[in-house]
Formats: sequence, C-alpha cells, structure tokens
Amino acid sequence: MNNYLPTNKSILFDLDGTIFSMSSTLLPRINKYYSRPVIEAVPMIEHMQQTGGIYPGLLTVDSCYKPRLFVEQQIYPQCFELINYLIANKFDVWFVTMPLQNYHTKSSQQEKIAQIQRYFGQKLAQHIIFSCKKFEIPGLYLVDDRPQHPAEESKAQWKAILMEQVYNYQIDCSRRISTDNALTDMIQLMHRDAQMNISDEKQNKEQSILISQ
Ligand SMILES: [Mg+2]
Repeated sequence: MNNYLPTNKSILFDLDGTIFSMSSTLLPRINKYYSRPVIEAVPMIEHMQQTGGIYPGLLTVDSCYKPRLFVEQQIYPQCFELINYLIANKFDVWFVTMPLQNYHTKSSQQEKIAQIQRYFGQKLAQHIIFSCKKFEIPGLYLVDDRPQHPAEESKAQWKAILMEQVYNYQIDCSRRISTDNALTDMIQLMHRDAQMNISDEKQNKEQSILISQ
C-alpha cells in the first residue's frame, strides 16, 4: 500500500455512477429478467423495491452480486479526460468508494482496483480508499453522484461536487458537473472557486486594514 494519504488539497472521485457508468453493466443484467427494458431509474434497488416489491429487488440484488459487475463497467470518456488532465497538472487525485457489504467484498475491491490500474496505471491504483464514511477523508473536492452527497459537505473538509445523474437532478448543490462535459465543467468550477477565494482574501485584507485603523 501507499505510505501517504489524501490531504486537504487532494481531489477525490467516487467510482460507480461518477466516473464509471453503472448502467453499462447493471442495466443489461437486469433487463435480461424483463420483457420491457428497465430505464435508468437508479438507485435501481431502491426504485424497484418501492415500485415492484421484493422479487424485482431480489433480481436486482442478484445482478449486483454476480462477479465482474465492476470490472466490466465503462468509464465515461469525459471523466477519463478530466482525471488525466488533473494528473498531468500535478493534482493529487484519489478514488473513494464504498465497499460492497456482502460476501463479494474482497472481489469487488479487486475489480475496482483493476479498473483504476487499467485506465490510470499502477500508481493511481494505490490511490483507492474503500470507505462508507467519505466525510472523514480529507480533500479539496469530492466528486460523487449520491443524492446524499451535498448534505455531507458540512461534516467534511472537502467541497461537494455532484456528478449529475437522472436520480439527483432535484438535489440542491452549487457545484455540479456532468458526465458529458466533465472536463470543461470542472475547469470552470475550479476557476470560479479560485476567483471567489481571491476576492474573499481581498475582502478579508480590506476588513483587517479597516479594523486596525
Ligand atoms: Mg456512486
């Protein structure tokens, strides 16, 4: 394992539904059970349990727990570009993901590590943290698709960036990027934050001068 950890300058990325398309592996598996294709109503497990009862829920869980769910996921091309851009510009990139809570925990972790190694190489494959408490991990930003993500910002050092998906459009978050335009969105967002920091610093300086007078 790596002998260092993320800092408050690190940029953190969730994996599933953020840089990797869950629907690229999960949807085809689930759709095998149905005569009519299931749309991207993710979190699918939640949706199907609410609307279809236990049986569709079981089918979904069964689809999740079959091996190779993670290793066959496709990366969003713009997220691939974004992460390579950040690495090339010397940002400290980390991946933070929840482990599957079942008997496939170990193999799902290995699949996720393999995916990162495949796309970003051996060094970045050591930059994965498996945690259910993402707010405990230091960082400048955490990019995540979970609808609950922005609410955790108050407990964390990082600022929440919501990766837009159909299931989080209604969620209020001042920092959002899209899978189709991740690189441009992120550059604009970081630029905007940098400008705000400069004007905050300027304002603080002016205030302290006023106070000292
Ligand atoms: Mg996710």
